[in-house]
Amino acid sequence: MLFEDAMRQAAEEAIAYRERDGKRGPVAVATYADMLDKFSQPVPEMGSEPEKVISDLVARATPGLRAMTDPGFFGWVIGGSHPVGVAADWLTSAWGQNTGNHFATPAASAAETVAGRWLLDLLDLPRSASVGFTTGASMANFVGLAAARGEILRRAGWDVEAEGLIGAPRINLLIGADAHETVFMALRYLGLGANTSIRIETDEVGRMRPEALRKGLESLEGPGIVIGQAGQLNTGAFDDFTEICAIAHEHGYWVHVDGAFGLWARASDRYQQLAEGVDRADSWAVDGHKWLQTPYDSGFVIVADRGAHVRAMQMQSSYLPAGSEEEREPAAYVPELSRRARGFAAWAMIRYLGRSGIADMIDANCAFAAALAQALRGAKGVRVVAEPIINQLLLRIGESDEATQETIKEIQRRGRLFVGPALWRGEWVMRISVTNYGTRPEQAEAVAHEILEAWQVIEARVGGGQAA
Ligand SMILES: *Cc1c(COP(=O)(O)O)cnc(C)c1O
Repeated sequence: MLFEDAMRQAAEEAIAYRERDGKRGPVAVATYADMLDKFSQPVPEMGSEPEKVISDLVARATPGLRAMTDPGFFGWVIGGSHPVGVAADWLTSAWGQNTGNHFATPAASAAETVAGRWLLDLLDLPRSASVGFTTGASMANFVGLAAARGEILRRAGWDVEAEGLIGAPRINLLIGADAHETVFMALRYLGLGANTSIRIETDEVGRMRPEALRKGLESLEGPGIVIGQAGQLNTGAFDDFTEICAIAHEHGYWVHVDGAFGLWARASDRYQQLAEGVDRADSWAVDGHKWLQTPYDSGFVIVADRGAHVRAMQMQSSYLPAGSEEEREPAAYVPELSRRARGFAAWAMIRYLGRSGIADMIDANCAFAAALAQALRGAKGVRVVAEPIINQLLLRIGESDEATQETIKEIQRRGRLFVGPALWRGEWVMRISVTNYGTRPEQAEAVAHEILEAWQVIEARVGGGQAA
């Protein structure tokens, strides 16, 4: 086969790259400007040999690859693209299934249906709910909120799918003050506006105060949506869903939950009580690429009312077979028609880890965060700003924005770990997000040591008055 060598070569390169996970040592990553330089050339007039294309791609890209799959990567809550998921994803690409409907792509459609059922079981959500396979939680929030918008307006006598929003009853939006920005992006795309929502006061770890929600709802009339969060992006905190769902449903509101990573706590015996009552919500967004460790392009939107989900997303066309009640059509639950077969990698990761493997991975990540907090507590100049609830740890260094930011830069420069900054309650903090399948509690001591060494370098500088 003409392309066999290129495909083998890509597989070998990929394997070699992943064999370095956890053993990289310090890595300096080339800048975007360097990379742009490396990739820039005029449009090639002539084609190239397949193998040459692949080796050229590897040579150009490698210096600018961030070690996001490494167990020392704590930059954002993003997951480690587990090799088993990656392997399934190779096949997904090779099989080239355009997963729109079950007649055209029986295997891909069935894998989605079953992975969706597994997901409802693992997260203990209503088994009759519908599941859409999205690119990530941003899109899952978008789809969940689209279903919410359609259904609450339908109940108010307005068909938004047919008539649009112009002239529609106003929708009240209530959302915790510490919600993720992607939720506002979804509201914007849906014509609901990023600035129209009522921000509900939160407590010190970012949980919506139920009394504040109750009070907010009392003064409002008309249909509405309450947006809660399972896993606050900085602290990992969970809203009190039992209370929030009860209050919202009393008023006939829809509850949507952004549970991008936190909803996975439902799969752990140890942490599931944090998300108690979340099954009473109406829609949920959760990522595959975070705590299921699939490669990117993997999120799930779950909607209790399947009809509302389908009405918001389904496309009708004469050249596509019509869907039926019994057979799930993959395209009826997401905004795209042509797309990759996202169900294969999700199916493979659940099959590989199993219920206990998912729980163990989550527990190990959370144990790491707790052990790191423990190792750093009491260290001079280091304050644990928020104790880990699950996998998130916030540190304030040297009691100043400057010391915190400079220490983060120093850690990044040294290249053994990757951590990032965040603004929390008006202060810059070091945000440590633990979501890689390979990060083990035993590594906490070494990570603490690296953070403290970087801080010592900065402290000497700040103390010596040389810092800018
Ligand atoms: C990651 C995250 C998102 C966005 O998800 P993507 O998969 O990046 O689109 C939304 N909300 C929360 C709480 C998140 O952690």
